[in-house]
Amino acid sequence: MPNECIFCRIAEGALPAQRVYQDEQAVAFPDLNPQAPTHILIVPRRHLASLAGATAADAGLLGHLVWVAAQVARAQGLDQTGYRVAVNTGREGGQAIEHLHLHLLGGRAMSGRLG
Ligand code: 5GP
Ligand code: ZN
Repeated sequence: MPNECIFCRIAEGALPAQRVYQDEQAVAFPDLNPQAPTHILIVPRRHLASLAGATAADAGLLGHLVWVAAQVARAQGLDQTGYRVAVNTGREGGQAIEHLHLHLLGGRAMSGRLG
């Protein structure tokens, strides 16, 4: 685990974040710079740099993260109105932090465009 990784530090509790969900594999907390009324990041506790490096052994964890996104969306009351889950990957995908994370965005109508 790279100890300079901000999301590893948040996951282990070394940096503060208002956790809206946590379990043994994942933590979820609000984005520092929200792009929507609800903008929550779901991150695995285990350091995975990005989706680009995922292997078959990571498939269960990836499924779990998507399930957590749905759970958090439900807890935030977004399941009736809808929401977006996004994973920016690599330079052209717009990924700024090299620890895999899902963005859960809701509370406003999302644009039809994805990029
Ligand atoms: P990316 O562009 O890598 O997909 O998204 C990184 C996200 O992390 C951005 O939306 C940014 O606002 C958020 N972020 C960056 N640093 C922090 C932080 O220290 N705490 C929290 N909660 N979010 C952060
Ligand atoms: Zn990390």
